[in-house]
Amino acid sequence: MSAAIRERDAELLSGPRDPLEVLASVFGHRAFRGKQEEVVRHVVAGGDAVVLFPTGAGKSICYQVPALCRPGTAIVVSPLIALMRDQVEALRQAGVRATALNSTLSGDEAFRVRLDLREGLLDLLYVTPERLLSEGFLDLLSQVKIALFAIDEAHCVSQWGHDFRPEYMALSVLRERFPGVPRIALTATADLQTRADLLVRLEMEDAAVYTTSADRPNIRYAIVQKDNPRRQLLAFLRRHQGSSGIVYCLSRRKVEETATFLEDNGIRALPYHAGLDRAVRDANQDAFLKEEGLVLVATIAFGMGIDKPDVRFVAHLDLPSSVEAYYQETGRAGRDGLPSEAWMAYGLSDMALRGRMIDEREAPDDVKRIERAKLGALLGVCETAGCRRQALLAYFGERHPGQCGNCDTCEAPVDTWDGTVAAQKILSAMVRTGQRYGAGHVIDVLRGETTEKVTRAGHDRLPTFGVGKDIEPRVWQSAIRQLVAAGIVRVDHDEHGALVATEEARAVLKGDHPIRFRRDRVFKATEGRGRGGSSAPVADLSADEQALFEALRAERLKLAREQGVPPYVVFHDTTLREMARLRPMDLDTLGRVPGVGEAKLRRYGDAMLEVIYRGVGG
Ligand code: ADP
Ligand code: ZN
Repeated sequence: MSAAIRERDAELLSGPRDPLEVLASVFGHRAFRGKQEEVVRHVVAGGDAVVLFPTGAGKSICYQVPALCRPGTAIVVSPLIALMRDQVEALRQAGVRATALNSTLSGDEAFRVRLDLREGLLDLLYVTPERLLSEGFLDLLSQVKIALFAIDEAHCVSQWGHDFRPEYMALSVLRERFPGVPRIALTATADLQTRADLLVRLEMEDAAVYTTSADRPNIRYAIVQKDNPRRQLLAFLRRHQGSSGIVYCLSRRKVEETATFLEDNGIRALPYHAGLDRAVRDANQDAFLKEEGLVLVATIAFGMGIDKPDVRFVAHLDLPSSVEAYYQETGRAGRDGLPSEAWMAYGLSDMALRGRMIDEREAPDDVKRIERAKLGALLGVCETAGCRRQALLAYFGERHPGQCGNCDTCEAPVDTWDGTVAAQKILSAMVRTGQRYGAGHVIDVLRGETTEKVTRAGHDRLPTFGVGKDIEPRVWQSAIRQLVAAGIVRVDHDEHGALVATEEARAVLKGDHPIRFRRDRVFKATEGRGRGGSSAPVADLSADEQALFEALRAERLKLAREQGVPPYVVFHDTTLREMARLRPMDLDTLGRVPGVGEAKLRRYGDAMLEVIYRGVGG
């Protein structure tokens, strides 16, 4: 009889483990966070649960602890192989018997996994829904002891969501085939429609539902007006030197160009989009996960299933399609709870482009109407003079008091100005020129520029010609953009971007609808200079602690490289920071640092202590 099987039998005799004991000894955490404990106790007792926590709240613990407390193997359904790989690696590092069954395994390897499953030698098994639902596999499962089913990224079951996976729909069979086994579905997706849909599709209407605020307090939100976007991006990245982050662009070409531009400016950046060779794409993703301080420039093809906890920033060079998309993409920053930044540069052209994409889609009118409303809601967040966090959370039906102190508008309150007359001048110039011209020409007319286009059309003879000389073109641009966001002006894509007045415009022209515009901040090319240097999030460590933190990071990178795994599966930054602050001098004290479980203490304890001794000595 093998040692593994004897170990299993011994475990069966010792009875169920206590959740808190598992949390401490395996994961190295002293206490549950928020509603984790409620969820864990409910599932350990055999109940079904739906867990709707935002990214970084600690969803994994909600099924991983019950998996270790309940007898048998936990089956975890996950949509992506990359996601499984990280989770499995992190669990193994913590001494948990976890593995994944997916298409990357050879026939022999897959056979071995099945054998281990049959023998009860696995604590957690990660599978794709396709694999789980194959008849052979369901049969095999009916012959083994199952601790629970966890359905990760459960929003994939909903057609409302952006990551719809038809195979997820069939997961409802689990209820019939394994009636006594608890199911726990987890997702960070916040919108109400998807949540409701998920309960029905997975037949989990009777499950206990656990929610927390969608707020991500450690993320700073900033939205700037596009001026010279590449320079603005560069200034932003200079503030984040040495940190990992994602830059999102809409097109493949822009991804390539931006990555090259950053490289040319001394910032390590790699491209990622669906048009790249599979091998290149995988290699770039792998580098992003395993190396530190790398910028990944990507289309939205990148992101789902990226569990990297130390993504310090997400930058958008193009406008996403909705608040959901924006929140999901920016949500990839700061999973580890450390300060992170979501930054976006946007302008009138972004609005126009997104609008055109909706107009040109082959879709029924009511679908387009919903999409336009969703885009409008995001524009509202972009143009708000109030707290960004408040505006974002309001979209998800949450009331936030505002003044979060961690967004651009809270930090530097936005000036507004009475724009009623200016708006009337814009509308008048549009109407007098036949609503056939784009913003550039309308502004030329307002400013009294005698361009060839102006004189050819005779627009220099209009009464509105030159009535707006006193206002800079940049400010006119901003005003037009805000009128579009407010639904007073529409960009007509069939007419090559002509500005057209909507119904709402009438009230403005009649003076029944006062307008206040926000005053855009002017971008200065010197912004962000000189602040760079070390990785931003550890700013509150003393100089000595910071030096030790960097030394511990270097050691971690070495340990990770030796095993070919990402550094964060060895230790998270939060754990290294605590080590640097507390300077434990023996294994016992080191073991009390959050994130150091028994297995990691055995494996890495000595190496970490050595770095600390060296730091203290020198
Ligand atoms: P989610 O899946 O909800 O995005 P994760 O499960 O990846 O979140 O956890 C986010 C971070 O929080 C991880 O760094 C994890 O180690 C940490 N964490 C989770 N639960 C706890 C806890 N009870 N105490 C301390 N840290 C925790
Ligand atoms: Zn705020």
